[in-house]
Amino acid sequence: MNKKNQRLGWIEVICGPMFSGKTEELIRRLKRAIIAKNKILVFKPKIDNRYSDSLIVSHNNNSIESITIDNEDKILDNIPDDINIIGIDEIQFFKKGIIDICIKLANKNKRVIVSGLDKDFQGKPFGIMPNILSEAEYISKLNAICNVCGDYAFFTKRISKDKEQILLGELDKYEANCRNCFYK
Ligand code: ADP
Ligand code: MG
Repeated sequence: MNKKNQRLGWIEVICGPMFSGKTEELIRRLKRAIIAKNKILVFKPKIDNRYSDSLIVSHNNNSIESITIDNEDKILDNIPDDINIIGIDEIQFFKKGIIDICIKLANKNKRVIVSGLDKDFQGKPFGIMPNILSEAEYISKLNAICNVCGDYAFFTKRISKDKEQILLGELDKYEANCRNCFYK
């Protein structure tokens, strides 16, 4: 590409329900970026310590090193100049400030790849997801397999009785649902 057409920074969002392969896809993109000799850094929110503090791990046990942070402000402090790709998993757990941070990074010519749940267990937009989706240049919406009927699933149904929006859990607490089975 010549200078005029050169792609610089941008934001990619990977979204979908639980078990749709968001973390798997994030890891896939990051590992390919390493093969292409990019320098990457990966973050995840402290709230998500289901498997490990220093790794992002997908449900099919793929993993990549990550930095756990309790506050999105820690991201900008943690990025050496030679890093050109930033990954963030479970971005729906961060506060509004994460949006400006992603914009700043993209404007500094970084490729920002984030993944998160677009909908909560009630089928409503999850936190900052609508904002990051509207900022993104590229969006991939993934589907899981409906645990009830086997159709494509775009919803996450809570099968435990808890009512709070944030409740960490796996197949013991959540299942993937198609529209039909979710609203039944
Ligand atoms: P996410 O980050 O979206 O929650 P992961 O990338 O961690 O998903 O895991 C995706 C993997 O989850 C799939 O490759 C598959 O092995 C497993 N899995 C478990 N339940 C389901 C389901 N209902 N639909 C699709 N994949 C599932
Ligand atoms: Mg995940």
